[in-house]
Amino acid sequence: MTAQLIDGNALARQIRADVSGRTAALKARGIQPTLAIVLVGDDPASQVYVKHKVNDSSETGLVANLERHPVEMAEADLLARIHALNEDPAVHGILVQLPLPRHMDSHKVIEAISPAKDVDGFHVASAGALMVGQPGFWPCTPHGCMKMLESIGYSLRGKHAVVIGRSNIVGKPMAMMLLAQNATVTICHSATADLGAMTRQADVIVAAVGKANLLTADMVKPGAVVIDVGMNRTAEGKLCGDVDFAGVKEVAGWITPVPGGVGPMTRAMLLVNTLEAAERSAA
Ligand code: NAP
Repeated sequence: MTAQLIDGNALARQIRADVSGRTAALKARGIQPTLAIVLVGDDPASQVYVKHKVNDSSETGLVANLERHPVEMAEADLLARIHALNEDPAVHGILVQLPLPRHMDSHKVIEAISPAKDVDGFHVASAGALMVGQPGFWPCTPHGCMKMLESIGYSLRGKHAVVIGRSNIVGKPMAMMLLAQNATVTICHSATADLGAMTRQADVIVAAVGKANLLTADMVKPGAVVIDVGMNRTAEGKLCGDVDFAGVKEVAGWITPVPGGVGPMTRAMLLVNTLEAAERSAA
């Protein structure tokens, strides 16, 4: 069997086109959806990520204001800056690029963002809203994975989903989103005794660990949907996921590639959240 590919690039393109249209409609009403991106320090990977976020925004008609602060910025000054952005009616979304310098408490900084502007969905209020099924911003990566499942018309009702990884930004919210769609959910982690015994039962597997080739063909039930969140580098420097793609695609029914899978969807969902923040503020 050769799995069908869930093309994250193509789906993200469709989502960006939708965002462009809805942004134009808001602009026609005099509202310019605006994202504030706060970058502290000069972490090289963060520089690349924020550049993508600014470019993605401008391509879809959103405004992304990138503010750069020196690595020695005091935490109190960052909190004051976030407070000012919270109060600014022209700013709809606030994103603080992580990681922050060591002298800052990331949790405290994220909690300073108004939940109404928390487009990364990392605030405790956003996590709580997801947990109890109330409106709020969903973290972009698991939200993008859900959109991928939706794009293939996959009904999760009564299906067994296995999520590998339990981080607050991917694994746990992913499990909540799957549960909300009436899947039965198992969450695995580094202390799971027999990962393969779990994944072999799964109709859907979401791998979010950060270990290349963690999921191999012998761990996958024929026909399962496999979503690969992992981002790793091979010895040659090539980007790869957590899934042994060549092997697993011969067993799975659907599979996401890396690159071109969850990555572009994560970027697209930030645009959706920012637009929705602006739409909610205008409602
Ligand atoms: P994380 O915070 O490091 O979490 C990794 C999780 O994997 C932890 O829950 C850990 O278990 C679990 N784990 C480690 N070894 C395991 C094993 N052998 N078997 C089962 N579970 C194991 O990472 P994260 O932030 O969630 O990110 C996960 C991966 O997704 C990374 O590769 C990251 O780069 C990637 N990512 C991609 C995107 C994207 O847009 N494509 C976005 C976000 C993250 P414990 O909890 O027990 O330690």
